[in-house]
Amino acid sequence: MKIVIIGNGIAATSAATKIREFDASCEITMLSDENTPFYSRPRLLDYLAGKVSFEQITIKSEQWYNKLNIELVSGAKVFSITPQENKIITSKGDISYDALLVASGASAATPPFFRPDLKNVFRLRTKEDADRIIAAAQHVRTAAIIGGGLLGIETGFALTSRGLTTTVIEIADRLLPKQLDAESSLLLKASLEEKGLRFLTGKQAAALDADREGLCITCTDATVLRADIIVVSAGIRPNVGFLEGSGVNVGRGIIVDEKLRTNIGNIYAAGDCAEFRSTLYGIWPAAKEQGEIAGAIIAGQDAVYNGSIMSAKLKVVGIEVASIGDIAVGLGTRTESQREGSSFRKLFYENGRLKGAILIGDTSDYFKLQKEIALPAPRQSA
Ligand SMILES: Cc1cc2nc3c(=O)[nH]c(=O)nc-3n(C[C@H](O)[C@H](O)[C@H](O)COP(=O)(O)OP(=O)(O)OC[C@H]3O[C@@H](n4cnc5c(N)ncnc54)[C@H](O)[C@@H]3O)c2cc1C
Repeated sequence: MKIVIIGNGIAATSAATKIREFDASCEITMLSDENTPFYSRPRLLDYLAGKVSFEQITIKSEQWYNKLNIELVSGAKVFSITPQENKIITSKGDISYDALLVASGASAATPPFFRPDLKNVFRLRTKEDADRIIAAAQHVRTAAIIGGGLLGIETGFALTSRGLTTTVIEIADRLLPKQLDAESSLLLKASLEEKGLRFLTGKQAAALDADREGLCITCTDATVLRADIIVVSAGIRPNVGFLEGSGVNVGRGIIVDEKLRTNIGNIYAAGDCAEFRSTLYGIWPAAKEQGEIAGAIIAGQDAVYNGSIMSAKLKVVGIEVASIGDIAVGLGTRTESQREGSSFRKLFYENGRLKGAILIGDTSDYFKLQKEIALPAPRQSA
């Protein structure tokens, strides 16, 4: 049996590990268009801030692939697949498979105003992107980040750590509206401002230009912000372009069922490229969980994926912020808030059960609450 995995990220490597755990003899080939070993994408921010070397964020060495008898083909870009022939067309030739796992992740989104032609305008997803930003940051004084989500804030903080005066532009009127309520969002903004980050909230970037003085961002309300470098952090898009015309069902991501199967029997998908029950998770723990389950299933085990808990933790030194589960407040939602010094904690309950939590200052209960939120709902009595 020949199993091919498109990708070499957390979903792909978790799947490969599981497959090998249950099947010592199958052939496993992993394809990646990056030229690096498997590294921690979240820790690219530490790398960008200059706190760690690339070796320190590398997770799997060449020996790991050798030991598990996995062939890793780096620098191999997949152009298309033809399921009728079980064939993948790549920049390094055609490859056939018996079972295929697509774990191709996502790319940073490009909003309409994005100008890749402009010097010093970047996005951040890969080591290559981080290297380009680091090279540019060495010669400039100011930066602007378009997008005040978790990644935008963390990127801004990394550039502040490099000595750049950095402003984050956010379309919403407060930070992290999906992860925090209004009260905790204000607390976070104040802490980040103390660390030197600047914010323009309620502003929508509309155009990027360059003149003799550098780059400038024009917002829809005519606000203009000048900066030496710009990082656009406007969400992610699943890497699914190579599936066009293949017959694999794609919505926003590759549509999978609870067996991580696509509509084509021997093709599976996991991680940031996969869409499960209309959800694109876009987070590391979900990609890992999906990869492990897909791997077990491909290796013939009986497993089921039931979704992951959305969770996020801000990686900014000295600022502990975490958001877990569902923090939407509906008619039946009960909340409990607790403030102690600079720590703030808000729990969200529905039908007598914890469904979400926000932690600021003290996030030591992060994993405990994640487990509690993941517990199945109590049975309703008849
Ligand atoms: C800077 C940064 C910080 C982050 N911080 C956090 C965090 O704190 N917490 C969190 O939960 N999540 C975080 N994330 C998100 C997290 O990294 C992703 O959810 C996770 O990496 C997804 O894993 P994946 O294996 O699905 O995809 P990826 O890691 O994107 O891997 C995809 C793989 O597919 C390969 N590939 C793609 N297209 C092709 C093709 N056509 N041909 C061949 N190979 C291809 C790529 O080379 C890569 O090996 C962060 C992301 C970034 C960029």
